[in-house]
This record gives sequence, structure tokens and C-alpha cells, in this order.
Amino acid sequence: MTNRQSAIGNRQSPVAAIVLAAGESRRFGQPKQLLPVGNKTMIQHVVDVVLDSPVEQVVVVLGCRAAEIGTSIADRPVQVVVNERWKSGLSSSVRAGLSALKPGIGAALFVLADQPGITTEVIAKLVERYRQTHAPIVVPTHRGRRGNPVLFGRSLFAELMEVKGDQGGRRLIAEHKNELEEVKVETEAIFTDIDTPDDYQTADRQYPISNTQYPTFKSLIIDLDGVLYRGDQAIVGAREFVALLQREGVPFLLLTNNSTRTPGQYVTKLAKMGIAIEESDVLTSAQASALYLERIAQPGARVYVIGEEGLRAALREKYTIAEERTDFVVVGMDTGLTYEKLRVATLLIRSGARFIATNPDKTLPTEEGLVPGNGASLAALEAATGVAPSVVGKPEPAIFDLALARMGVGKEGAAVIGDRLETDILGGRRVGLITILVLSGATSRQGLESSSIKPDLVFEDVGQLYEVWTRS
Ligand SMILES: [Mg+2]
Repeated sequence: MTNRQSAIGNRQSPVAAIVLAAGESRRFGQPKQLLPVGNKTMIQHVVDVVLDSPVEQVVVVLGCRAAEIGTSIADRPVQVVVNERWKSGLSSSVRAGLSALKPGIGAALFVLADQPGITTEVIAKLVERYRQTHAPIVVPTHRGRRGNPVLFGRSLFAELMEVKGDQGGRRLIAEHKNELEEVKVETEAIFTDIDTPDDYQTADRQYPISNTQYPTFKSLIIDLDGVLYRGDQAIVGAREFVALLQREGVPFLLLTNNSTRTPGQYVTKLAKMGIAIEESDVLTSAQASALYLERIAQPGARVYVIGEEGLRAALREKYTIAEERTDFVVVGMDTGLTYEKLRVATLLIRSGARFIATNPDKTLPTEEGLVPGNGASLAALEAATGVAPSVVGKPEPAIFDLALARMGVGKEGAAVIGDRLETDILGGRRVGLITILVLSGATSRQGLESSSIKPDLVFEDVGQLYEVWTRS
């Protein structure tokens, strides 16, 4: 970036960008600066656009919840100023930004942090016009209307310092209308700022801000826990989302690594939340394990099972459940796990039985915190036998292949929606599916940022995906 900037930058008239991000987000439940824009927060997105533009200095003015928002851009090469008086209006942030400028700066471009549709091209055009004309004010227009961001030359800095309240530079623009340069741009994004959840959705439709590049899905693999519900509570929008898929005839499959419940039990659980599905809409890791066995086992093969009803029911139909001389040991989550079960499984695996695992999840979230999941039992057996299991569930490709086969669709246009990076998203990527992370379950935005596993799209929850889908 430094190279590019010095190559483009004009030494006679260095330009700074001042990103104004101090305001309160009264009409959002969270700071709007942290709303998702693609895989970034809105402030990260805007700052990165500015950093990619031909400017010599970038100042970001924070105020309300400065610490939280500052953390989000801590790794960006920008100068952060905190405007402690942000409550007194935009003008106090303008002053804070101007005070942080390097002495040689010839002009300052005021970029609003809630205008995520602004592009590097728009900024570059404004800066270029300034460098050609040295006009004290450069404003973008679209169809004859003026928008933001606006550039002010150093000759107006003193007057800008005197502006009061929420006036911003409006009065100055009016007073200097004869020295003003207008730059035509092709985007309406110069008019849109994000003040309400509605604005966010609207902008999302109009410009490539958050997830507008989302493809038309042909089929969907949907995780359950953390996506459609948490515990016994449906996630807002889940019912509408499933109904939409049913109404539009989009093939979907509810795919869970949980092996303890039968599809019938899921039908009942979801029905209580107002989500009407059929047993054939569900594929559990227990069923997937049974299907996987069909590919490698003789009919009637002998199987030792560690697991609950979901797994036992899936295997009972085609195999002989036994505790001696078995061909397979299949291990799923078992809240009744005992030393005796581990002893039997160990002896069987050591005698040559093949070791199959429904799913690798090491922990399970509960209201009290994380507790041992199936992966913990697998670790015990692996330690005792020296044999690693063949894993069927996510993120292994086997279960995704089975899911696509069940829907009767190919990989093309197939997407997976989940709340866990290391199972849903990693698995989807391995198979080559479109991956969609929802932040309504196991993964926080911070967790996403620090992970090397990146989804194609990120939504707060399926409710937000529903909104984007139905409005586009
Ligand atoms: Mg989940």
C-alpha cells in the first residue's frame, strides 16, 4: 500500500481521509460500525476502502463505544483519535480529525463510517479532481444531487474548526458554492447512510455492501443447533426461512452431527417451534453412519454401538447389534457412557473391528458451559487402541456427499449454512459448496476474525438471510 500511495500521491498536495465513526447507533441494538459487511465489520470495510485509495494519511475518529470499535480496526495502519465530546455533534469529530492531521496535508476528505457503499473509485475521482484544480471544496454528485464524502482544502480548515453542532460542512458548502468542484459519480451510495436497520437492508440491496453477491442457491444443507434453534428456542426468522424454502421448492436438508435423536424426534421438536418438516428432511450423523456402513459392510454385519436411541435406531434395521465378535464399533454421543462400554469397545477394536465415529465434536455447548462431546470419547478410545476412527459427520466429506445424494442434487449451486467454522464451514469448503456462516450459535464475530476458516457469506442469523433473500 505504501508503494502504491507514494507512486500516486502528489507531493505538492497530500490528501488525508478523516473517517467519522464517533456517532451513537441509537436505532441498532449494537454499534452500527460493527455490522457485517461481507466478512468484515462496517468500520473495517470502510477503513480498508480508504486505505486502498490514493490518500497520504488516514485518521479515524471514534467516540461512542470507542474501545470496542477501535479493537475492530486495531490492526489497520490508521491513526485513531477519540472524540470524548462526540455527544455534542458531528462538528466536534470534524475538529478532532483536523487536529490530528500532519502539517503538510493540503486537503481532507471526510468519509462517513456509515456509508459502506463508497468505493475506492469514488474517493480516487475526488482526490484526482482536487489535485488538478486545488478547489477548496470537491463534492460528488449523482443525477445532479450532491452527496458525501466531501473534500475540503486547507484554506477552509480554520472555518471548519468553527462549525457547531451537527452542521458538518453544509454551511461552508453554501458559502463557497462558486469555488466548488462537482464530480459526477455513477453510484447512489453517496446519498445513503445507515441510520436504521431498514437503511442497512436497503443499502444491502442496492450496493455491494454486505452479502449482496450472494448467489441464487439451488439447494441448501442446513445445520440445526445454533441455526434454526438454540436449546428449545427457535431462532428469530427460522420458521419463515424454512417456509420460504418450502414455498419456493428449493431442495433442502437439515443436517446435524448430533446422533442422539431420531428424525422423528426432530420433527416433533421443530413442530413445537412452529416449523413443519418431514422425517425425510432430516439427516443425522447416526443415519449417515448407517448409510456409510451400507457401503462397506455385509448385510447383517455385527456392530457394537456406543450411542443413544438415534444411533441405535438407525443401525438396528440392517445390522445385528452385539457385544462380542463384531465387525464394527460405531461410536456416537452417549450420555450414559461408562468404563464398561469403553472397555468392550477397546477390546473389539484391538481384535480387528473397524472403528467408526458418527461425529468428531469434542465439546457440546450447554447453559453451564462446554461439556464433553463425542470427540472426547473418541480420544479415549484412540488412546487405548492406537487406532483413529473413520469419521462420518461434518467436516468429513462423507456426510455432505450423502446429503447431496439424499436431495438428488449435485454440488453446483449447493450451499451449506452452519454456525460452526470447524465442522459446517470447513466441511462445506472441502466439498466445494457455497458456505454460509450464521453468528447465532457457536461462532462469534471475534471468533470468525481470528479463525483461518473463512465462509463465503456471513449473516447474523437465518432471519437476516431471509430478509436479504426476499427483498432481492
Ligand atoms: Mg450447529
